[in-house]
Amino acid sequence: MNALHTSVYHSAVFDHPETGGHENVVFVQDNDTGLRAIIAVHDTTLGPALGGCRVWPYEKPADALTDALRLSRGMTYKNALAGLDLGGGKAVIIADPRKDKTPALMEAFGKHVERLSGTYITAEDVGVSPDDMEAVARHTDHVRGTSATGLGDPSPYTALGVFEGIKASAKHVFGSNDLSGRTVSVQGLGHVGYDVARQLHAAGAKLIVSDIHAPAVIRAIEAFGATAVDPGEAHMVAADIFVPCALGAGLNARTIPHIQAQIVAGAANNQLETPADGVALRERGILYAPDYAINAGGVISIALATPNSGDNLVREKTFAIGDTLTTIFERAAREETTPEQIADTMAEERLANAS
Ligand code: NAD
Repeated sequence: MNALHTSVYHSAVFDHPETGGHENVVFVQDNDTGLRAIIAVHDTTLGPALGGCRVWPYEKPADALTDALRLSRGMTYKNALAGLDLGGGKAVIIADPRKDKTPALMEAFGKHVERLSGTYITAEDVGVSPDDMEAVARHTDHVRGTSATGLGDPSPYTALGVFEGIKASAKHVFGSNDLSGRTVSVQGLGHVGYDVARQLHAAGAKLIVSDIHAPAVIRAIEAFGATAVDPGEAHMVAADIFVPCALGAGLNARTIPHIQAQIVAGAANNQLETPADGVALRERGILYAPDYAINAGGVISIALATPNSGDNLVREKTFAIGDTLTTIFERAAREETTPEQIADTMAEERLANAS
């Protein structure tokens, strides 16, 4: 390799801004199937690196690398904070899930997962279906979340954890976790959001709901007597609690000044557009439940369920999300910092104690 190549590789990978001590980053190519993938193993201190496989038509391979590095590191923190004996990893396949994805492509991916000898365990993520994971599982045992390995759809457990997290947040701010009579704005009524809304309704909360998909809104109005708002207004309505369950980056300089709720606690990943947005929430006196702490029920179900084991252990660990959040909130108040800063610190402490 000449000096030019060396420096190109260096700046692309070793000096990448998202590189945060990744143990192993594998670039995968298979000419027969057209597979192009990146598997990033961030940290295996606590155990094998568990994290989903995302299929996405990245414009540039560099974008795929950025995503793989960022998401795999996020999984290390999420798994550590959830009390799982698992490290963090992630795989991205550069392909359009609607056009390019074939069973052969997913099988080829499975062969490469197998080559990592269990240091990386894959699962479903954006653009990947249960059938895709069955194809992967034909070539490796290092897969979770298939019908053969566990409980199937993780969303009910994510929703359960979010509901517990909302109660812990309410207890911290209002002094009681009783949600009856509280007004809650739920943004996004998909797999997780609808189930969270169902539990909130059962607990006596008044619901304000929004979704870009009109039938989901109608269903919630009919089932829960909810009031509908435009999705772009979900954060600014007069509510006690705002529950983002749609897409990420919804908490930003444009939305935060208009939030009326005293609590933001929802399932969406990467809710803060930038770290400064977490500080802005704190300065406005709004309690934010760190997303990767409150939405860990899904990964807990993927990690811990085994065939025929039932879901007692999964439910127990998912209920504990409420206690973890209480610890985070109390420590953040004591140390005069944001809850997400404390969540990161707690995950890092667990890693440091294990190494
Ligand atoms: P989903 O695709 O089933 O539901 C998302 C819903 O949000 C859809 O109904 C969609 O129409 C709606 N939506 C999209 N853009 C919107 C907008 N601008 N305003 C209002 N609604 C909008 O997804 P899901 O599985 O319910 O996941 C919801 C969020 O939780 C995602 O951010 C996901 O990454 C995160 N999450 C999900 C799980 C899980 O187990 N499914 C686990 C952890 C985190």
